[in-house]
Amino acid sequence: MPIATVNPANGETLKTYEALGAEEIERRLAAAETAFRTYRTTSFAERARLLHRAADLLEEDRRDVARVMTTEMGKPIKQARAEVAKCAKAMRWYADHAEELLADEESAESEAKDSGASRVLVRYRPLGPVLAVMPWNFPLWQVIRFAAPALMAGNVGLLKHASNVPQTALYLEDLFHRAGFLEGCFQTLLIGSGKVEDVLRDGRVRAATLTGSEPAGRAVASVAGDEVKKTVLELGGSDPFVVMPSADVDRAAKTAVTARVQNTGQSCIAAKRFIVHTDVFDAFAERFTAGMEALKVGDPMDEDTEVGPLSSERGRSDLEELVDDAVEAGATVLCGAERPEGSGWYYAPTVLADVTPDMRIHREEAFGPVATLYRAADLEEAIAIANDSPFGLSSNVWTRDEDEVDRFARDLEAGGVYVNGMTASHPAFPFGGVKRSGYGRELSGHGIREFCNITTVWHG
Ligand code: NDP
Repeated sequence: MPIATVNPANGETLKTYEALGAEEIERRLAAAETAFRTYRTTSFAERARLLHRAADLLEEDRRDVARVMTTEMGKPIKQARAEVAKCAKAMRWYADHAEELLADEESAESEAKDSGASRVLVRYRPLGPVLAVMPWNFPLWQVIRFAAPALMAGNVGLLKHASNVPQTALYLEDLFHRAGFLEGCFQTLLIGSGKVEDVLRDGRVRAATLTGSEPAGRAVASVAGDEVKKTVLELGGSDPFVVMPSADVDRAAKTAVTARVQNTGQSCIAAKRFIVHTDVFDAFAERFTAGMEALKVGDPMDEDTEVGPLSSERGRSDLEELVDDAVEAGATVLCGAERPEGSGWYYAPTVLADVTPDMRIHREEAFGPVATLYRAADLEEAIAIANDSPFGLSSNVWTRDEDEVDRFARDLEAGGVYVNGMTASHPAFPFGGVKRSGYGRELSGHGIREFCNITTVWHG
């Protein structure tokens, strides 16, 4: 894949970039190592000052950065600006909380004594340069979600961003530089995915985090495993959205539309499979389909556009294949299932019913504005359908019955259970999945400790 900005709204190639050569990659790895030696000794207060400064600069650049993201991957411009604001908030959150999240932990006196010590402390120390392999769907947020905690912990970052968002990738390096971080603390490597293995095998790189598809995750984790390097993987999802009879069906249907089409449906935590109790199935299906049909699809630069083009031609054809496969195997089209006329990689918001386990869309991630509807006879069946997926990122349940809430929280195979609402990440709460959705956690105290050397300091 060439490293280039190609506008998904019209297919026009706007800018192409040469991938870095071996010498430049070496220079950057050396800079990361050198920066780490000094940066690891800086105080939390100093790191926080720099990160606050970066958040301020990002907010000042809000309009321009949003336009760059929309031009590179097609997200509606309002959502691009919201992404910028979310990033600034997460940066400030980590700037304000890292010291407390990584404070030394003093063991109980009795346990220290039992080990023969006068005192035992657990200290969270940084690991070193961390490689971040990131996707295009939230080109700023995915990176900040890694970079804010990594930098506050005293690590340094090497970003290998998706090849279709090079301008956003370069902007991020420039942002941290302007904020005053030492040269080498945060660098962008403009390289194709074929060069990731070499970088990851380099002894100066201590760990890796990847957000993206399962094949990419498997490739990076295999190399990291071979090198005995820690990884965090945040891969795809096919999150269930369960609606039970006691739910507020109107509100559920309205939220379901947003939960499915946020970012033109290209979100790992978008709700993708809608599992509805038979008592409210017809009411929900009617309102949800009406909501999907009413969405404004169009130029992502227009302020009132709700659904833009998919990020790439391949993204659209992959999605189309999943829909065609389902329709051929007997799925019912309630709306959409077609390309609108004209240029750009648009796909109509689509709802499919009568989906069965033999269809690809039942097992694979539909990365675009396509929803599948399932009918469940009772709670047991709803849970069984929800768990019948290789993925386990998050889940959404709509019910006013507390016993049902307990059952979902106990039995859904997912890293999140969102009750009467849609999944949305927040810096204070852990984010990540189980099964093929990956492992490890981002955000919160759990996220910042993933790339720490958890050190026992024992005093005799
Ligand atoms: P990829 O997983 O291919 O890309 C994500 C990142 O991984 C990019 O930086 C990419 O680089 C890199 N990468 C890809 N293959 C390798 C490899 N073998 N070794 C090292 N790095 C690699 O996502 P796609 O854009 O191809 O999207 C395909 C599907 O992945 C989507 O349809 C969706 O299902 C899923 N996806 C999930 C995301 C999520 O948020 N969980 C985000 C994006 C995609 P390069 O761009 O240079 O190829």
